[in-house]
Amino acid sequence: MKATPINSLSKLCIHTITHKPWSLREVADNFARVGVSGVTVWRDDLAGTNPVEAGKLLRSRGLEIVSYCRGGFFPAKDASDRKSAIYDNERTIDEAAALGAPLVVLVCGAVPGQSLAQSRRQIVDGINAVLPRAKEKGVKLAIEPLHPMYADDRSAVNDLKTANDLCEEINSDYVGVAVDVYHLWWDPRLEVEIRRCGRMKKIFAFHICDWKTPTEHLLLDRGLMGEGCIPIREIRSWVEESGFHGYNEVEIFSEKHWAGDQRDFLDQIVHAYREHS
Ligand code: ZN
Repeated sequence: MKATPINSLSKLCIHTITHKPWSLREVADNFARVGVSGVTVWRDDLAGTNPVEAGKLLRSRGLEIVSYCRGGFFPAKDASDRKSAIYDNERTIDEAAALGAPLVVLVCGAVPGQSLAQSRRQIVDGINAVLPRAKEKGVKLAIEPLHPMYADDRSAVNDLKTANDLCEEINSDYVGVAVDVYHLWWDPRLEVEIRRCGRMKKIFAFHICDWKTPTEHLLLDRGLMGEGCIPIREIRSWVEESGFHGYNEVEIFSEKHWAGDQRDFLDQIVHAYREHS
């Protein structure tokens, strides 16, 4: 069954990185101008900015801060590097709290030359180590499984089953999953695992964009919804039937779209959101 078409922007959230050329103020002004409802803030876009002030600015334009991207990168061969990753994630949680973001998205990490199983052990240890800080600050954590093409150095969590298994093992109300169609659309078990994730009440976020053919760059050539082959509306129907009623977050890394006029791009996003999400 397909989800019903979207005819309002009340659940449209856009990641600041989608409009990388814009400052946070330009993001705030332009999102408000076209009626975007939510924003997910990337850590790079806060550099040099007081997170409390950034939060005030975004909320003053009527935007809800949906999440903060990103923490993670827990695995390392060296124990001291794993310790600094934990410290850095605690700082990320503090920044999210100051910003007023209820969720930190985790790109969990991986180390070339170290087994994925070992990296996953270190990911669980890392998340457990930062959980007290997350609880203290009231900030939840979302494990985002990444496409297997990033298994070498970005994430040892590469499908939704693995993310669900880790959530079960960690067993905390503060740890769930970010379901991103770009990373997961290919998985024959996707529907089953989305429904399982829903039963566990672990769907914390839903990210959308599209997979272009051909994809010219593994990281920086994501497509606008409708530009590629992902059945976004069908996947959204599984997510919603599983009890998730949060934002649809548009997260597009694209050198091509970053090189163009950002106001035009934002108009295209709104159009694509209504037509293809
Ligand atoms: Zn994502």
